[in-house]
Amino acid sequence: RAIVRDLDRLEEQNPVMVTSTLPTQEVDPTIFERRFLKKVRDLGEGHFGKVELCLYDPHGDQTGDLVAVKSLKSESDGLESNNLRREINTMRELYHNNIVKYKGMCNEEGGRTIKLIMEYLPLGSLKEFLPRNKPQIDLKRLLLYAVQICRGMDYLGSQNYIHRDLAARNVLMENESLVKIGDFGLTKSIKENEDYYRMREEQDSPVYWYAPECLIHRKFYKASDVWSFGVTLYELMTYCERKSSPPEIFLNMIGRSQGQMTMTKLVKALEDGWRLPHPTYCPDVVYAQMQKCWRKAPEDRVEFKSLIQVFEDLIS
Ligand code: ADP
Ligand code: MG
Repeated sequence: RAIVRDLDRLEEQNPVMVTSTLPTQEVDPTIFERRFLKKVRDLGEGHFGKVELCLYDPHGDQTGDLVAVKSLKSESDGLESNNLRREINTMRELYHNNIVKYKGMCNEEGGRTIKLIMEYLPLGSLKEFLPRNKPQIDLKRLLLYAVQICRGMDYLGSQNYIHRDLAARNVLMENESLVKIGDFGLTKSIKENEDYYRMREEQDSPVYWYAPECLIHRKFYKASDVWSFGVTLYELMTYCERKSSPPEIFLNMIGRSQGQMTMTKLVKALEDGWRLPHPTYCPDVVYAQMQKCWRKAPEDRVEFKSLIQVFEDLIS
């Protein structure tokens, strides 16, 4: 890197000469050096990982870029760092306007620490933004977010990935009219001749966003993401208000002290046809789309392509 700096200086004096002689490896823009990453503040954290806003400032003069950096929370084991590696490998394959952009990684200490570097989305997640900015977000705006999420999901499916954690907390906002899907920590690739992914180990799963086949057989189809989209659409239409969140609604219905029984009751309720209620200010046509996402059999559910059409017609 010191060499690169010297080259930078040389280049300022004689741009033409040096540019063509830089070895490509030295200028790989997806390799970030830890010593140049300056933490600005925390952005959020989940079970294993945390995301921080950092300034990447290789020249040390505050001219660098703001980036979002995801790393493992503390000294965690190999399994979790493999998950982050897998998330990096997934994200670097994805190029879509409604998917958070991968910028690179930081892999130091002989591979023992790894960080995912992505673009920073200044307004945070829908879950943080919507409840605080309700007055300035009208129905049309919510439907714009919905169609953008569907476009990102349709692209993801076309690349044979299943997201498995689609929820308002994982949809990030570039500005008030552009949202992008993030958090590919649970994303799986489905092989050519298969149409679902089978979850291996019992792990923390976003159960209230999951379709019955995910909860019962631990099978994930593209149509299981459609179910989760339906729950995300429900969150949009309730402005992600805590009192009407999917876990709140369900736990209020079954009672709070169920312990181990909660999962069993959830599966039973879904199998009996129970669904999240019609949000107060949600138009009937929009609730009808949620219901199409929540059909029991995965093959009966609506596809992202037709959802895109419906929402486009509604906002045009
Ligand atoms: P986890 O796997 O721990 O859930 P996420 O990738 O969902 O991690 O990130 C956790 C939170 O951090 C998000 O809900 C969001 O609030 C914030 N966050 C994540 N990525 C970004 C980003 N690129 N720009 C801004 N905020 C982000
Ligand atoms: Mg998340």
